[in-house]
Amino acid sequence: MAETKPVDLRSDTVTKPTPGMWQAITEAELGDDVYGEDPSVNALEAEVAALFGHEAALFAPTGSMANQIALQLVAPRASELLCDADAHIVTYEMGAAAALGGISTRTWPAAGGSLDPDVVAAMIRPRGPYVVATEAIAVEQTHNRAGGEVIPLATLERLRQIADEAGLALHCDGARIWNAHVADGVPLSSYGALFETLSVCLSKGLGTPAGSLVVGSAERIAEGRVIRKRLGGGMRQAGVLGAAGRYAIANHIERLADDHARAARLADALAPFGVVSGSVRTNMVVLDLTNAPLDAPALDAAARDGGVLVSVLSARRVRLVTHLDLDDASIDRAIDVLVRILKG
Ligand SMILES: *Cc1c(COP(=O)(O)O)cnc(C)c1O
Repeated sequence: MAETKPVDLRSDTVTKPTPGMWQAITEAELGDDVYGEDPSVNALEAEVAALFGHEAALFAPTGSMANQIALQLVAPRASELLCDADAHIVTYEMGAAAALGGISTRTWPAAGGSLDPDVVAAMIRPRGPYVVATEAIAVEQTHNRAGGEVIPLATLERLRQIADEAGLALHCDGARIWNAHVADGVPLSSYGALFETLSVCLSKGLGTPAGSLVVGSAERIAEGRVIRKRLGGGMRQAGVLGAAGRYAIANHIERLADDHARAARLADALAPFGVVSGSVRTNMVVLDLTNAPLDAPALDAAARDGGVLVSVLSARRVRLVTHLDLDDASIDRAIDVLVRILKG
């Protein structure tokens, strides 16, 4: 029997360009983006800035670099950033806030990845000669390690008020803010209005091979351009990626609803086994196997044998992510395999 391609539920980063995206890449107008002369990157930056109602945006090779540029823009060296303990910026960015930005982070666990505004208000430390001064707060939308949870707009608005009262900046790690926009119907510009800086990824649900942007004021983004070059992130004919990004913005945002529906279908099929953790609002399903007949590494191995790839988060937790390269038939296959495994 011919080997069928595995159903890859590890991440929404595993997608390949669609034929339409490849065509956009091959037709891209190019220039040297370090000179600011790549028309495709310039157009992408202008389009993304406009979507979020900001003056400017800056293309970066990765979401981690976009976050780190933004953090250096909002938190001076030796100041403090507040964020939740599971945030991508303190979990998966290799200590960059400290190592590269000289930024001190203070974190605490937040249910569903959603910072409690009253706790944030209590955590803020004043500027002065005695304690580390809090200068910025970061949130994550949607929240990756919380399983794609959408932070409610009202919570973000309250955090904005608190930041204003204390004179702090608010950054959004919006790697998957597109998913939040589609799930909650909040306009991207409404999110944009709440933050000094946002980072957004093109290479997750939107399906480009690489690329992210920092969004903010013209002044901040001009400074961000210097920081990007310092980090080694100045790319030359980056329009091959910029064109993919413009195609994704035009064609792949609204279709995220399909990914969300497929994640909901996976969750519904696995719910009878009592393993689905939290709410499934976007493109991720987190399984908590505490009461299941097998642990996460065992489920990972059994699923792999059945042609389904999952992500192990911890000894008892597994993550399933839907994306552009999956269709209804691949979700059916994944359900068959996972149900068979969970029946034991
Ligand atoms: C993926 C991701 C990023 C950026 O990751 P890169 O792999 O560096 O592009 C940032 N924040 C969140 C929440 C993410 O999921």
